[in-house]
Amino acid sequence: MRIVLLGPPGAGKGTQAARIIEKYGTPHISTGDILREAVKQKTELGKTAESYMSKGELVPDSVVIGIVAERLKNPDCASGFLLDGFPRTVAQAVALDETLKENHMELDAVISLEVDEDEVVRRLSSRKVCSKFGAIYSTAGGAVAPETCESCQGQVITRTDDQPEAILRRLQVYKDQTEPLIEYYSKAGILKPVSATGSVDEVFSRVVEALS
Ligand code: AMP
Repeated sequence: MRIVLLGPPGAGKGTQAARIIEKYGTPHISTGDILREAVKQKTELGKTAESYMSKGELVPDSVVIGIVAERLKNPDCASGFLLDGFPRTVAQAVALDETLKENHMELDAVISLEVDEDEVVRRLSSRKVCSKFGAIYSTAGGAVAPETCESCQGQVITRTDDQPEAILRRLQVYKDQTEPLIEYYSKAGILKPVSATGSVDEVFSRVVEALS
């Protein structure tokens, strides 16, 4: 299955992606993860990306489109993939369509995780992540996140783009640049809106139903 996971920051894309790949066995392509790894490794890509990411801005289309086009050539994507956090602009969606067409492929579904803005701000301001593999912890409702990850002992941190100013900027960027994709994929007839409120299990069962 070829799936795109769409939604504002904090909608739970990463969490649902982990469940989707577990169930469907498709490779998970998260442009956010690829870029964060490049920043950590201090590669040329990482140096370019970091200045945009820390401010909550999008990394330029030309950079991100190239990364995804290369990744999709990998043989593990031949029978399907889950794109998480890409496309994020109409230009990226058009480029993705072209890449898929060149490879005689098309998308099966675009899952659009829907959640209101207050909830997104609440989730992002209480989110902590493992600096090694990205496991997500929440301090919502007074919960205490561990200092080190329960699975891999990596340090648990607040992402620089989860600082209050960057959160607001990311939400604005989502509205201006990513939200138009809802119409784009709706017109293409493959948009599957899914309510992203409730427990992880509840949201996941809605995702499975949308994909069935
Ligand atoms: P994410 O983990 O998906 O929230 O992405 C974190 C950050 O990486 C975003 O705020 C952007 O700065 C950058 N990023 C991730 N995916 C893309 C994309 N498709 N286009 C441009 N920038 C991206």
